[in-house]
Amino acid sequence: KGSNGKYVVTLIPGDGIGPEISESVKNIYSAANVPIDWEEVSVTPVLKGGKTVIPESAITSVRKNTVALKGPLATPIGKGHVSLNLTLRRTFNLFANVRPCVSIQGFKTPYDDVNTVLIRENTEGEYSGIEHEIVDGVVQSIKLITWDASERVARYAFHYAQSTGRKRVTAVHKANIMKMSDGMFLSACRQVSKEFPDITYDEDLLDRVCLQVVQNPQPYSNRVMVMPNLYGDILSDMCAGLIGGLGLTPSGNIGRDASIFEAVHGSAPDIAGKGLANPTALLLSSLMMLRHMNLNEYATKIESAALKTIAEGKAITGDLGGKASTTEYTNAIISKLRA
Ligand code: NAD
Repeated sequence: KGSNGKYVVTLIPGDGIGPEISESVKNIYSAANVPIDWEEVSVTPVLKGGKTVIPESAITSVRKNTVALKGPLATPIGKGHVSLNLTLRRTFNLFANVRPCVSIQGFKTPYDDVNTVLIRENTEGEYSGIEHEIVDGVVQSIKLITWDASERVARYAFHYAQSTGRKRVTAVHKANIMKMSDGMFLSACRQVSKEFPDITYDEDLLDRVCLQVVQNPQPYSNRVMVMPNLYGDILSDMCAGLIGGLGLTPSGNIGRDASIFEAVHGSAPDIAGKGLANPTALLLSSLMMLRHMNLNEYATKIESAALKTIAEGKAITGDLGGKASTTEYTNAIISKLRA
């Protein structure tokens, strides 16, 4: 907390639509009198010793405040660039990525009862970034699974289930094919499950889960799914599709040294700067952050104003089938907060 009694939170507006959706969140927070002072930092890479790195000031800010809200960062494609998202995950040991997908009542999608929570291992797996060309035309990419990281994310998943009243944890895997790597992930989950006798533990194959979730998401509403990195990336986008797309899905990167909350979507370069972006995903991510900080009252108030605005459908953005600009949607939420 700062000297004025407010919490200081790092804000990384990000690239593309990032500044527009961050502005929207800031305006909604002012209207709701949330006791937060934003410390805005840029993570535009700087050159250090021939390598591009995140500016030290950004790292210092997140380390000091331990909580950050982050807009999307565009990942440059090609050689020699490290993904800034990966750098942030590694720097702050952001080991678990929590991705809830909840149907918005009143907003019509093929299902109205989706309520999934997916926890993705965030530091290794297929994202180890270890790739090499063995001989011409043959590349090897290493999927790294460690006992420690598997156990850590499994324990977090069980804790999350316990604290949110979910009764079951399902480990999602392909251990039939990746016997050793996913096999070890499962062993770690099994071992941790013994510490949580009140929570049912089971395991299911990724492909089967995909099929079952799209056929009927309802049985997944009372459990937490935990899985290695790449599976979580893909399965969570699939779940996002069930509730109305990427404009609506939040996430939290929970870490040892800090926690960073961000929308699941990217910088949406196709609509950037046009005032068309849907800020809901970033807003809902910020509400996960408020709950993480025990500021539940503010989270509930803002959530209800945003969900009502979407359900009414009068001022929703283009991705949801509406005609409103980012600002019009934001103002509609603000007028509900003031009502
Ligand atoms: P994207 O999520 O940016 O866009 C996919 C599609 O969804 C686009 O048509 C976009 O217009 C739409 N969309 C996304 N968010 C929206 C919103 N809030 N409101 C309305 N429409 C929205 O994915 P992409 O195009 O594959 O990636 C663009 C860039 O973002 C890439 O550089 C990628 O690396 C980066 N990225 C960053 C993150 C992150 O920072 N966490 C995550 C994913 C992608």
